Amino acid sequence: MSDIRVPFLDLKFAYSELSRELDDAVLRASRSGWYIGGPEVESFEADFAAYTDAKYCVGVGNGLDALTLALRALDIGAGDEVIVPSHTFIATWLAVSAVGAKPIPVEPASGSYNIDVASIERCITPNTKAIMPVHLYGIPVDIDAICILAKKYGLAVVEDAAQAHGAQVRGKKIGSHGDVVAWSFYPGKNLGALGDGGAVTTNNEAIASRVRELGNYGSAVKYYNGERGVNSRLDPIQAAALSVKLKHLDAWNQRRQAIAKTYSQALGGLALELPHVPTWADPVWHLYVVTAPKRDALQSQLASAGIQTLIHYPVAPHLQKAYQALDIKLGSLPVAERLAKEVLSLPIGPHLSASDVDYVISVLTAIHQV
Ligand SMILES: *Cc1c(COP(=O)(O)O)cnc(C)c1O
Repeated sequence: MSDIRVPFLDLKFAYSELSRELDDAVLRASRSGWYIGGPEVESFEADFAAYTDAKYCVGVGNGLDALTLALRALDIGAGDEVIVPSHTFIATWLAVSAVGAKPIPVEPASGSYNIDVASIERCITPNTKAIMPVHLYGIPVDIDAICILAKKYGLAVVEDAAQAHGAQVRGKKIGSHGDVVAWSFYPGKNLGALGDGGAVTTNNEAIASRVRELGNYGSAVKYYNGERGVNSRLDPIQAAALSVKLKHLDAWNQRRQAIAKTYSQALGGLALELPHVPTWADPVWHLYVVTAPKRDALQSQLASAGIQTLIHYPVAPHLQKAYQALDIKLGSLPVAERLAKEVLSLPIGPHLSASDVDYVISVLTAIHQV
C-alpha cells in the first residue's frame, strides 16, 4: 500500500475552509443555553425548507431515523409492502424493516444506478403502500414519473435524498416532490454536520407535525404522549454548524460538478462505464461512480498510484446476512449483484484540486493503455 496522494474524502478540509464561521456557530450554540431544540434548530429548519423548496422541514437525529419516521408518519407498518431500489445503501431497506413492512426490491434501468421507473408498476400488489426511490450518488431519479405512477395507484412516495442535497429534476430542487423527503447530514454527505443529523422535508403540514411528535417521544405537549415515539431530534450545535455549511452548499456542489464534468470528458474513451445523466437531471455528485468488469484489479492499481477509491456498495442489500430471512436468492436481482461487483467510486469533493483530478485521469488513462 503506497502513500495516499489523492484521498477519497477529507472532512477536515471542509472544516478548515470554514473554521472561523463554524467555530463561531458552535460557540454561539454552546453559549445560548438551548441544548435541545430552540432558535438554532428553528432557523436551520427554516433555511433548509427554503433551500429545498419545501413548506416544512423537521430536524431529526440522522438519515435512517428520517426515513423511518417518514414511514411511520404515513402509517406504514406490518403487512405493508414498500418498493425500494435493489441497488442502494442498506439504510433505505432498514427503514422499511424498522416499521415492520416488507422491502420489495426493483432493479435499476440498464446504464443507470437508480431504480427503473418502468419496472415499478409490475411489482405493485394490493399490499403496496409506498414507493421509496433513492437519488443515488446524487443523480436524481425521475421523481415526476414516480409521483404520477404513485398517484395512479394511491401510493405514498418517500424519497431517500441522503445523497442529493441540491439536486434538481427539470429545474426543481429535490425536497417536496414526494409526500416526504428524508435527508441525512452524516459528515460525509454533500451537506454534512459535525456528527450525526437528519431531517425530513414535506409540503404536508400533518406529516411534518407527526414526524416532529414521533421524534419527540410521540408527544406534542410535554408529558402527554399521543403515541409511542422515539427520541430523534436535530441537535442545536449540529443545526448551527449546518446553517453555516448550507450557505456554501451550492459553491461546493459546483466544485463537484466541475470535477464530474472533467472526469466524464476525459474518461470517455476508456473501458469503463461512466455515470449516465439524463437530460432533465441536475446531479450534485455525492459520488462519481464508474463500473469496471475487473473492478478489484483496477482499485488496487489506483491504490498503488496513491489514489484512494471506495465501493458503494460491495454487497447488495438482499444478499446481506441481515436480509437472509427474506430468502431472495442469489441471481434473482442480477443488476444489483453485478453492480456490487463492478462499481468503483473515484475521488470527488471540494477537497480535490485541479491537479489531483488531472492525476487521477492520467493514471486511469495509463492503466487502460497497457
Ligand atoms: C447516508 C445514507 C442514509 C442514512 O443516513 P444516516 O444519517 O447515516 O443514518 C440513508 N440512505 C442513503 C442513500 C444514504 O446514503
